[in-house]
Amino acid sequence: APPGSSKTVRQVKLDKECELRVEVSPEYPLRLRVLNGTAEIFGTEIPPEIWMTFPPRLKFAVFTWYGATIEIDGTTETDYTADETPMISYVNVHAVLDARRNRAKASPSDSDASQGPRVIVVGPTDSGKSTLARMLLSWAAKQGWKPTFVDLDIGQGSITIPGCISATPIELPIDPVEGIPLDMPLVYFHGHVTPSVNVDLYKVLVKELAQVLERQFAGNVESRAAGMEKLWSMLRDVLKNKANVDVVKLHKSGGVVSRNAKVRQKARAFRIREYFYGLTNDLSPHSNIANFSDLCIYRVGGGPQAPRSALPVGAEPTADPTRLIPVNINQDLLHLVLAVSFAKEPDEIISR
Ligand code: ADP
Repeated sequence: APPGSSKTVRQVKLDKECELRVEVSPEYPLRLRVLNGTAEIFGTEIPPEIWMTFPPRLKFAVFTWYGATIEIDGTTETDYTADETPMISYVNVHAVLDARRNRAKASPSDSDASQGPRVIVVGPTDSGKSTLARMLLSWAAKQGWKPTFVDLDIGQGSITIPGCISATPIELPIDPVEGIPLDMPLVYFHGHVTPSVNVDLYKVLVKELAQVLERQFAGNVESRAAGMEKLWSMLRDVLKNKANVDVVKLHKSGGVVSRNAKVRQKARAFRIREYFYGLTNDLSPHSNIANFSDLCIYRVGGGPQAPRSALPVGAEPTADPTRLIPVNINQDLLHLVLAVSFAKEPDEIISR
């Protein structure tokens, strides 16, 4: 506990369909437990009476469907109770998805009907997209489904290090502290924190990821029926290309914490740190020393394109988004995160 604070343990009684919104202090972890009743954090039920420890800066809500008493130990940045939440509408979405999964499971031999729901959660920055995806995944997992989570958010993704798009099966409700499990993710490296730096590369990677998942689903009835919950902020594109799309408009939760650009940048830095050192500094990365002459470093996609005015009349600027440009090893590479490629030859697609 912070110096000077003495009695920090307190109880909060939550009525049915209410939530306790918590922002853990920037310096100290917070302990919390359910004394009676039942409560969940973003779709994952909290075990009764066991103290759970939440790391600094974490923002979360403890929600109860039927009422609960919560005990917290430690200081928070903020904590308050809210009785207005969009949870009923969120769980209704879950119910619809569940019915579709059951329908898909009932007809494993029909290639169309066996396809479970594919959900895209879209919305502005800080509208609770990741949180909603997490709830839908955890509720599905609780009922025994194994949905695939596809995270296309390269700025603030929940699966791995920033700069990547990734997918992973979810087999158990997501741990409120540990987050998405990292046992078997499929990850593609974009190398930037916004798609706009190289939109074409982003599209190539999304397509590649989609193809790999389609191939996996083709041979796996179970994950096929469970479907995917995917995050993608390009609704218009999807609607243009797809029939049979139901669009459901949901309210943003009042609990979603807005983060300005600086906070987001900081969050990314923490994610990168967490990737290497673990959530509670429980990992110890080790360094490998290699000669510069043994490394080939490439950048994917050309930098700034030649302006149209510099091209011959009638010529279109051509930039292959996956073209590899050798990078000189120098000071500019300091403090950058690079990805190690599986490619055997430089001209293979190397982003995976
Ligand atoms: P988006 O994916 O749209 O950018 P997030 O789902 O990541 O938004 O939410 C932004 C932040 O708000 C996250 O830190 C999340 O944990 C927090 N948050 C979301 N819903 C709640 C809530 N009901 N109570 C407290 N914090 C919340």
